[in-house]
Amino acid sequence: MIRELFEKAGELHGHYCPGLAIGVRAAAEALKLLGAEKGEHSLYCIAESRACYMDGIQSVFGTTWGGGNLELRDRGKTAFNFYDRTTGKSLRLVSKDWPSGLEKSEMIEFLLNEPLGNVFSVTETRFEAPEDSFVRQPSQPCAVCGEMCREPFLRVSEGRLVCLDCAEKKLKQ
Ligand SMILES: [Zn+2]
Ligand SMILES: [Zn+2]
Repeated sequence: MIRELFEKAGELHGHYCPGLAIGVRAAAEALKLLGAEKGEHSLYCIAESRACYMDGIQSVFGTTWGGGNLELRDRGKTAFNFYDRTTGKSLRLVSKDWPSGLEKSEMIEFLLNEPLGNVFSVTETRFEAPEDSFVRQPSQPCAVCGEMCREPFLRVSEGRLVCLDCAEKKLKQ
């Protein structure tokens, strides 16, 4: 089962590596512990660093960059906060001190099949998950280039609203 998930995730990721195995295992355990199904709208994930495991999470947990329900808050830790916003359940998985000196294939095997307690610690989440995956932001045209731009990204320059690109160009002149 976990092997199949790993195979499938590799199609998205482009290769098979220990990093991908980390994400696949974490996501599979999170689904089990939350009692949730992959891809439910209520799911949300905040990762505490970014590496190959992000694709394991996208593939297995179903939260994606494009879907707006996968977020990075870089703390330099191999740790993942998983949420089901319907049930209010959440948990965080953080890496243990893994054995060093294993071959790549042995490491993948370890990450996929070792008892959970040897791979991750389960803790409380460190962050609140947002209620909505996307915050709706109205757009207005930039007074210089005319391109539509979300309001929080517009700046006032000489009394006109301009986009960041045009605001920065102005500074350089
Ligand atoms: Zn990789
Ligand atoms: Zn502009």
